[in-house]
Amino acid sequence: MNLFSAVSGVINGTVKISDRKKYSAITVAIACVHILLVFIFRTIGSVPMTIYNMCSVAGYLMCLPLIRRNALGWVFAYICVEVPLHSFLAIYTAGWDYGFAMYLIAIVPVGFDMSFALKNPVRGIKISVLFGLLSFFMFISCRMFSYYNTPLYRVDNEFFVQTVYFFNMFCTFVLLLVYSFIFASEIISAQTVLRKKNTELANLAAKDTLTGFYNRRKMHEYLVNAAAGKRAFSLIMSDIDNFKRLNDTYGHDCGDEALKAVSDACRSCVSDGDRICRWGGEEFLILTNRSLEDAADTAEKIRSAVESCHIVFNGSDIRITMTLGVSEFDPSSTIDKAITAADQNLYIGKNSGKNRVVK
Ligand code: GH3
Ligand code: MG
Ligand code: MG
Repeated sequence: MNLFSAVSGVINGTVKISDRKKYSAITVAIACVHILLVFIFRTIGSVPMTIYNMCSVAGYLMCLPLIRRNALGWVFAYICVEVPLHSFLAIYTAGWDYGFAMYLIAIVPVGFDMSFALKNPVRGIKISVLFGLLSFFMFISCRMFSYYNTPLYRVDNEFFVQTVYFFNMFCTFVLLLVYSFIFASEIISAQTVLRKKNTELANLAAKDTLTGFYNRRKMHEYLVNAAAGKRAFSLIMSDIDNFKRLNDTYGHDCGDEALKAVSDACRSCVSDGDRICRWGGEEFLILTNRSLEDAADTAEKIRSAVESCHIVFNGSDIRITMTLGVSEFDPSSTIDKAITAADQNLYIGKNSGKNRVVK
């Protein structure tokens, strides 16, 4: 996958950045910022802050194996301590004007994002809310502190001060932008997954697992909708002949195989717009927009296809037949009457020798 398709995948929510990659990239970015801060504090002349920032770089690099081991709690704890401490020490050392306090704002979304990756997300959210409040408190405290105290080190180069301020502001904005992007992308990704799962679940809830046909509940919806259209349509009610005997002779597993074979035969005879459902154990109901005559032709095709089915089970060649009753929905009547009519025709077919179509 090239960079362009990876970025557009993240924007569309089809590609999810793994926690490991995300936090590793952020940790490396923060370490890089601290490397620049090492040079900044060297220029300011503060040896302790230069050393502090060198240690911070080492600390962030040590976080990488922790991220790889998914020990994000420790990384989160390290950030929670390091960033407020750095902001306070930087302001104590160099004063407010450099903008070191802005990192206290930039770090708030990092805490919230990390809380979702912790093992206990609810506890994580509570901790990150506290962390956000702590950052706010530290920000105010740093401002008050810098108001009443003069910094330890002064640099009489306004351009340098403004450049560092700009650098700190730039890093803050980049972090806020990256995090806003990550949040938006993860919401889109979660919505995409949810939509897909919902479609899968709706399919599972509507279909019978053995035959792949609609179940009775879903078929009922289709029947009600078809009846509401106030247009004629036909129903084919079918039932496998002597199925009990087949089960008793060859076993239930063989019966299941036969059901699958019959359902495949039915499927091959209907059109795309027709709806087939498993109405009962070995009874199928077909809803078709055809006239009674055309539906009877379809039923005859199904009967013939089932009759031609060879089911080979444990070396036995098993033949099955099916009886089908056809009826037409009368828009001035009810759907129940059409179902009863198809059922009655099926019953007539059963009583007159089976393996036939009655309309
Ligand atoms: P008829 O020709 O009059 O329809 O006789 P029949 O033996 O087929 O009678 P009926 O339609 O009442 O038989 C239904 C049988 O279908 C009873 C039950 O054991 C069997 N059956 C229902 N569902 C399943 C299933 O999922 N798997 C298997 N193997 N058998 C099933
Ligand atoms: Mg039967
Ligand atoms: Mg039956």
